[in-house]
Amino acid sequence: MAPTRIEESQVNSTAEQPAEVVARLRTTFRTGRTKPVSWRTGQLRGLRSLLTEHGQDIAAALHADLGKGEREAFRTEIDFTVREIDHTLERLEGWLRPEPVEVPEHLGDARAWTVLDPLGVVLVIAPWNYPAQLLLAPVAGALAAGNCVVAKPSELAPATSRVIAELLPLFLDADAVAVMEGAVPETTALLEQRFDHIFYTGNGTVGRIVMRAAAEHLTPVTLELGGKSPAFVDRSTDLHDVAARLVSTKFLNAGQTCVAPDYVLTDRETAAELEGALAEAVRQAFGADPAASPRYGRIVNERHFDRLTGLLGSGRLVVGGAYDRTNRYIAPTVLADVSPDSAVMAEEIFGPILPVVVADGLDEAIAFINDRDKPLALYAFTESQEVRDRLVAETSSGGVGFGLPVAHLTVSDLPFGGVGESGMGRYHGQYSLETFSHRKAVLDKPLA
Ligand code: NAD
Repeated sequence: MAPTRIEESQVNSTAEQPAEVVARLRTTFRTGRTKPVSWRTGQLRGLRSLLTEHGQDIAAALHADLGKGEREAFRTEIDFTVREIDHTLERLEGWLRPEPVEVPEHLGDARAWTVLDPLGVVLVIAPWNYPAQLLLAPVAGALAAGNCVVAKPSELAPATSRVIAELLPLFLDADAVAVMEGAVPETTALLEQRFDHIFYTGNGTVGRIVMRAAAEHLTPVTLELGGKSPAFVDRSTDLHDVAARLVSTKFLNAGQTCVAPDYVLTDRETAAELEGALAEAVRQAFGADPAASPRYGRIVNERHFDRLTGLLGSGRLVVGGAYDRTNRYIAPTVLADVSPDSAVMAEEIFGPILPVVVADGLDEAIAFINDRDKPLALYAFTESQEVRDRLVAETSSGGVGFGLPVAHLTVSDLPFGGVGESGMGRYHGQYSLETFSHRKAVLDKPLA
């Protein structure tokens, strides 16, 4: 089916108030138009066309907002979302089939099954760090589930917000999908409306605001939050390979990645060797002057820049440490001998600073992790199966990655989400469909 395109005149008027938008979308939902699988796949194909036909426009916006290199923009935002859409398109019909369940004996010849019901009108609120992916991947899940969607991009990535607001209505059913741009006042006004689900990605403070607003209407929420994701390293590994993988994932998007390794946790002896390997890996990845590397991003705004430079005093500088406020550049930085009580260990770093913290032995490392908020991800570099098993069994985190940070979220069949302070709920692939649907129970007992 060709992508749904509409006339410019039908594009949402930005003057439309949140209550009007939600009412308009709810009217559409009630017609039943969004339920057939053909509508859903049509929307997904429309979204796919938007991404493939306007990839360059989105990449340019990402560069304007975050200094993101084109390759990284395609890999982590545009192509990532296209892959997620393709995965869903290939499987959606199968996922939507009613699922039979066994009935207990006392119900005799009864049959029972479950079906996935769309929820209605859902709200997706996105952050600035992957402003295209983190808006459009949940939108794809909501459309696959047959919902109408209000999409709220981050005002802190204004160029990406604008390009998506302009393009989305041209490729999708504009009576079923609306983009509402804006900052806190606009989001607050949106949150006063009754939605059937709210999907929020961002920080825990705003997560609490979202959840309180949702409680007024008994609206279920998914909260995709952050936290300090540790990377445990032990002596069994090749530290040069470990350093290369830590550097490529930590300094992606200048460290502004929710699943970036936040800090390294290792024993004293390994820490001493790893320091040098990390410094070398930074030079390999970004050259002697990372400021000149087209592959290295910038900090989103001055508030975050000032927050991050305030953390550079923790521990001992191994590599990096340079910064330039005029273009919000902070060099990829590694800090060693970092005390667990230092400022850099107090909150999620969300920038290009990698502290190395010493924990003597696995028991101490596990205790260190469990003494803190449950992280979005736990990473470990170890050749020991016993260590792997213990880390999985004895710690709690949104996900676990052995040998390669961040990559688990590119596997569409894995649920992506946090636990505790790192969030609630999950998405990607079939998990998105479940999140944006109600799994309805059906029982059929013949009369005779
Ligand atoms: P942000 O400032 O862009 O905020 C996210 C959204 O919340 C925006 O759309 C913004 O308009 C809205 N918002 C901000 N203040 C609000 C308020 N007072 N009331 C209502 N809405 C409000 O992004 P951020 O929170 O700085 O994002 C960074 C955080 O997000 C980090 O903690 C990071 O780990 C987390 N994160 C998590 C994931 C994940 O998938 N789990 C992904 C990316 C980022």
